[in-house]
Amino acid sequence: MIQLQDKTFEIFISPEEIQQEIQALARQLNADYAGKDVLFLSVLNGSFMFAADLFKKIMVSCEISFVKVSSYHGTSTSGRVDELIGLNADITDRHVVILEDIVDTGITIDKVITLLRAHAPASVKIATLLYKPEAFKGKNTPHYVGFSIPDKFVVGYGLDYNEKGRNLEAIYQLKGSVPTNNAMLNIVLFGPPGAGKGTQSERLIQKYGLIHLSTGDIFRANIKGETELGVLAKSFIDKGALVPDEVTINMLRDQVLHHPNASGFIFDGFPRTNAQAQALDEFLATLNTSINLMLALDVEENELRGRLLKRAEVSGRPDDADPKVIQHRIDVYRNETAPVKAYYQAQNKFISIDGIGEIDEISNRLYQAIDTQKI
Ligand code: 5GP
Ligand code: MG
Repeated sequence: MIQLQDKTFEIFISPEEIQQEIQALARQLNADYAGKDVLFLSVLNGSFMFAADLFKKIMVSCEISFVKVSSYHGTSTSGRVDELIGLNADITDRHVVILEDIVDTGITIDKVITLLRAHAPASVKIATLLYKPEAFKGKNTPHYVGFSIPDKFVVGYGLDYNEKGRNLEAIYQLKGSVPTNNAMLNIVLFGPPGAGKGTQSERLIQKYGLIHLSTGDIFRANIKGETELGVLAKSFIDKGALVPDEVTINMLRDQVLHHPNASGFIFDGFPRTNAQAQALDEFLATLNTSINLMLALDVEENELRGRLLKRAEVSGRPDDADPKVIQHRIDVYRNETAPVKAYYQAQNKFISIDGIGEIDEISNRLYQAIDTQKI
């Protein structure tokens, strides 16, 4: 058993088993690529150890290159752009074998393959040490698989938990974890304006198959559709009063019950008070489920101010452009979050995520928090 920060892991695959499996993979690759020249592309960071051990056992003519997928914001019309960094080999007309430590949802590998195809290689195959078939939703199924494993969080042998554990010779599994597809995953997502909540919740929805419930959106839809609840909510809003918790929770309940087969929900903009958090818990308990965790994207105020002012240049949103308004929105967020944060902290469900860095890096922090908390 090992401890990495707040989590305990137990041994899952021994160093000997890993080496045996790598030997078997090498044997297959040596047979399939006999007489050919192969370019191995190791997708960093996690695959460096697997790539090193496998590469030593390759007997055909070969080269290796190390790449990384990076996502950045393009112009407002192009949206997010993926880029393969470190690809300096010319791959046109070559036989490429991508080396991965783990294929989970398959999103990463799909991106890599799309980017590679643009260079017209002769062939592209995927070799991965670990594969989680239950989590896989991709278009490109791996061709060479070391171990097919259940959908549980693993570390070691190149794979990390918060950057720790990559040096371990064996592969470890989170202790006491249950397969993630057995239970619902319900997340309360918080983040100050400009923290990247929209971008990140889209990714969580895609990765975990969640339904996004934004109380703001639900209010607007109900009011627009003139539903009974909408009319009721509007009567408060028109008086300049806050919509009572009971009305809000009824709207949410309605939405949740409309998705009986959902794998889980992201609650966005709710709960905002202790009483709401309690009401949500009570309601979820009637469905035999609960909130798994509250994730808060943490971005320091200076950075938020900078991001919002920059966003104002493209969005034209007046509330993004005025420093006074920005400060007010940040203050409101801080004051609102504090009690809700304390509520979930008391249940050991609050996790603050560093919201600064590459979009993919931040997503990975969120995935790790979720995959290790889902017990
Ligand atoms: P994808 O979901 O795109 O197939 O995988 C994305 C990335 O998530 C992987 O490259 C890996 O960094 C990370 N990942 C997925 N599952 C695990 C896991 O069980 N343990 C660790 N340490 N990382 C994982
Ligand atoms: Mg990887």
